[in-house]
Amino acid sequence: MTKTAETVLEIDLNALQHNFEYIKSKLKANTKTLAVVKAYGYGSDACVIAKHLEKLNVDYFAVAYVDEGVALREAGVKTPILVLHPQIVHFNLLIEHCLEPNLYSERVLKAFIDLTESENQKEYPIHLKFNTGLNRLGFKIEDVDTIDDYLKKTKSIKIASIFSHLVASEDLNEREFSENQINSFNKIIDKFKSKLNYQPIYHMANTSGILNYPNAHFDMVRIGISLYGFGNDQKYTEQLRNVASLKSIISQIYTINKGESVGYNRGFTADKKIITATIPIGHADGIHRSFGKGKGYVTINGSKAPIVGNVCMDMVMVDVTDINCKEGDEVIVFNNQQTIIDLASAIDTIPYEIITAISQRIKRIVK
Ligand SMILES: *Cc1c(COP(=O)(O)O)cnc(C)c1O
Repeated sequence: MTKTAETVLEIDLNALQHNFEYIKSKLKANTKTLAVVKAYGYGSDACVIAKHLEKLNVDYFAVAYVDEGVALREAGVKTPILVLHPQIVHFNLLIEHCLEPNLYSERVLKAFIDLTESENQKEYPIHLKFNTGLNRLGFKIEDVDTIDDYLKKTKSIKIASIFSHLVASEDLNEREFSENQINSFNKIIDKFKSKLNYQPIYHMANTSGILNYPNAHFDMVRIGISLYGFGNDQKYTEQLRNVASLKSIISQIYTINKGESVGYNRGFTADKKIITATIPIGHADGIHRSFGKGKGYVTINGSKAPIVGNVCMDMVMVDVTDINCKEGDEVIVFNNQQTIIDLASAIDTIPYEIITAISQRIKRIVK
């Protein structure tokens, strides 16, 4: 691997494949797989990730918004794409690109039926989301009769899947709550089974649901963060491989004398002579400003270099006093799960936020 000459996010497709296969090894042979590639594939590169998973015969993709689905279609992705949170204003675009909406309330169900009827669509695949405790999006079990009435009156749509979402699948202290959600979902399934003369796909489990609740697998599972290397638990994360590595270089090295300050608002003042390195990556690239003043670090030639002073929009300065390095040397912001987990905990957040924050202006490179 040649050393980097600028800030890049390296995507490791072998790691992705390993993670997908690891998760599949936890499933029954006939359980379908849906890969969640929202938010640019958790900050990596949704099109690259999706194209690779398509080769591995994934059954479905999910994105959050219509534009994300359009980008996948434009990249040539042919697999069905569920749009988890479509906005009515984009329904035309959604249909144009054969994307499949999650219809989560009577308002959006009605709007979608009106549109598909006016376009003479036949059995356009839709997905219905049920709220079993997250209290975010979705119908409730009491709505099944109303939904059924709408469905009986139209041939323009057909249910491809019915799903719900677990609240705390990674938290085993909430096992009882999760089991109650699974029971509620089973009741919803029973109600539909008595009404429908065909069998949609039922699904509920995200990564931790897959790993912790085999009874939540149903017909399909929705694989998100684990594809990218995180199992929300050390014992699972150890089995997974990191997909995205963020690298940069040293632009300039400075000697800071005692009493001199570094960066905006003099966020750091030297109480002894130190050496700093300036790195071309900042809060506009996803390095949260809260990493400033020593909370975050990068790795240079194998040693940790803490961030000095405030994170700038396009740069950070790091302390390399005890590190043998020079301008142009490679800088690792993160390159394995453990660094990402440590960085996340340093600013009291979760790996999901660290990886999805990596700005689109950083070049993605496939390894
Ligand atoms: C984001 C998301 C997922 C993926 O969850 P992970 O914890 O990343 O596996 C699954 N289902 C829904 C509805 C989501 O919004």
